[in-house]
Order: sequence, then structure tokens, then C-alpha cells
Amino acid sequence: MADRRAKGEPSLALRAGPKSAMDDFTRRRQKLKRCLKEEGLDALLLTNPLSVSYLTGFSGDSSYLILGAKQTLLVSDGRYAEQITEECPGLEAHIRPPEQRLQEAAAEQLKKMRLRTVGFESASLAVAECEGLRALTPAIDWKGKPDRVEKLRVIKDATEIQQIREAIRIAERAFEMFRPMLRPSDSEKELSDALEMYIRWAGGTCSSFPAIVAVGDRSARPHARPTDRRISDAELLLVDWGACERFYKSDLTRVLLTRKNLSFSRTARKSRAADKLEKIYDVVLGAQEQALRAIRPGVKANDVDAAARKFIAEAGYGQYFTHGLGHGLGLQVHEAPAVRANSTDILQAGMVFTVEPGIYLPGWGGVRIEDDVLVTPDGCEVLTSVAKDWTSIHVGA
Ligand code: ZN
Ligand code: ZN
Repeated sequence: MADRRAKGEPSLALRAGPKSAMDDFTRRRQKLKRCLKEEGLDALLLTNPLSVSYLTGFSGDSSYLILGAKQTLLVSDGRYAEQITEECPGLEAHIRPPEQRLQEAAAEQLKKMRLRTVGFESASLAVAECEGLRALTPAIDWKGKPDRVEKLRVIKDATEIQQIREAIRIAERAFEMFRPMLRPSDSEKELSDALEMYIRWAGGTCSSFPAIVAVGDRSARPHARPTDRRISDAELLLVDWGACERFYKSDLTRVLLTRKNLSFSRTARKSRAADKLEKIYDVVLGAQEQALRAIRPGVKANDVDAAARKFIAEAGYGQYFTHGLGHGLGLQVHEAPAVRANSTDILQAGMVFTVEPGIYLPGWGGVRIEDDVLVTPDGCEVLTSVAKDWTSIHVGA
């Protein structure tokens, strides 16, 4: 931390320049306002903290955004007054008094603004909150819809792509710290804790999800929880981790080949476990290459999934690829588009998602290789850069 300050990097809150950030947020709100006309709404009430952040740059919670054709108002409370001035310059805010609940304050402002037909986020507003709002605003006609903001979020703008790149860079820097620290006596739990600490040391706000470190046969569970299992118990270590940098997330997976004493030597006779791992690793890597080659605007997301799935099936492991190929990445670690067999999403330039084929053999272990990609006008750019060729995954080589 001291290092970061010494280099003179700006604080987290100020990292995105206020002026350019303001422009991005205004642009996003303008895009969202189109649905007012399309749906005949006077305004939208945004209650999902992610939507509020996406549209304003505000990083706090317990706040609603009223987006009308002419007026935009953030309804918040005194704890955030200073933060709103800093993070959302130029945005009009109503700070409710401590004795008033958020819903009451929002209802009061909606009435004051004389709004009649108001859209709300039906996927993120709890039934009780929704009923509470209706009771407070009998004259308002509420129109719920689940994904107005989510549909915009699926195409990332330049600022978002830059922030995702930064979240990836932090995750990769954390992995660079993590790898040389591996010791045979380390447990999955110790390693996952250490990796999350490295993510923060590398400049991340936090880990984008609990880091997965799975030894040997435990790696056959795609969402394994870290236990007291030690690295020296097996030759295979799966690591699935990601960083959150302020708002945006990254998500990567690598498999490492660990000798029991972590003193792998290229000339040493390979164990049978390593032989089998190499075979399966090649298939997963090949499947990922097939998928990456298939990605470009206009392609159906399920066809990208199919490209990887076909490759794995032809190698005889079809039944062991037990999840979708990938998921969108951004403010959330799982968001649109869905890149799986039953997806109806069509790829467009500006989408960011993971490509993570895997083969999981119960009782033996699993191999997953996960990278983050950006759809470009003529294909895709792999944003992640941790080495993944077979020789690079040997620990201690
Ligand atoms: Zn992952
Ligand atoms: Zn993932």
C-alpha cells in the first residue's frame, strides 16, 4: 500500500477522472432514457446498487436513482453526502433526513416531480419493497421490467473495458506473487486466503469471488471450497481467482502441475498422473482455441459453446464437460451474455466474457482453463495473458 502511494497513484475514488467519468455516465443515462419514450414512462426508479453505480459512478449503497426525461435525482442519506459530491460531480442529489426511510424519501420526491408512470427494476426489488412503494404512491402506475439496465451493460464502453483490463492486470499480478510462494505443506485454505491477500496487495479492492484452490481430485468439483488438503497430496492444483478493481471484475483459471516436493525437473521421468494430466490438458486447451477462433460479432453464443464442446466430445470426454463455456463479465462476475448450449445471445463487439472449457473426472481431478475475452469488430481479443502452454504450468521447473 505504501508503495502505491509512493508512486503517486491517485486514490481509488479519484482514479477515473471526474470529467471523463461524468461524460460516460451521462451517455449511459441518455441511452437508458430511450426506454422512457419506447415504454411510455415518465421516469425510471433504479434501486439496484449496480444500476445506480453504472449510471452515476456512485460506489455506495442504500440509494435510489430517479431518472426522468428532464430531471435525474439520486436519493441518498447523510453518510454519503460528501462521497456523492466527489464521485458524481454535477449530479443532483436529495439527502433524506435520518428519521425518514429511503422508500419514503423516494416516494416523496416522485410525487414532487409529478411522475405518473414509473418503471422499476423487477429483478432486483424485493416484493416487500415493491408493495411498500406502491402503498406510498397510490397515484403512480408502476411498470416492472427485469433487464433494462442489464441490456445496456452487455456492451462495454471504452471506460469499462479499460477498468476490466485493470481488474485483469491486478489478478495477474497477484498470481505472479502467489506462484513462487507455493510450498508442499500449504493447504487449499491457506493458499486461497493468501491469493485474496495478494489481490489486495496488487491494487484490487477485493477478490471478485472467494478464490478456488483445489488439490488433486478436489479439482473435479468446478466450485470446490478450499479445505485443509495440502499441495503435497497430489500433483494437480487448480486455481480459479479474480480481482475487483473498484467496480469491475476479472475471472481466470489455471491448472498447475505440482510434484510432491515441488521440485519438478524436465529430465525427471514423468509420473502416470502427469501423463494423464498432459493428455487432458491438451484437449481442454485445444477446445479453448476452437472457441476463441469462433468468436466474432454476429455469431450465436451457443455456437461458440458448441465449438469447444465438439472438440472435447471428439476426444472422448464429452460427458465430463459439465458446465457452460463462459459467462459475461463486468460489474458482476456472472452477467450477460450467457455462452452456453441453451443461450439465445448473439455476440456483438464490446461484449466481454469468459471462455472456460473444462474436463472433470470424478475421483481423479479436473482441468479448466479460463480466460477473459473482448469481442472486437473482426473477432476477439484475449484480455488475459497468464501463460497456459503445457511447460509453463509446471511448478518449480
Ligand atoms: Zn473462474
Ligand atoms: Zn468464470
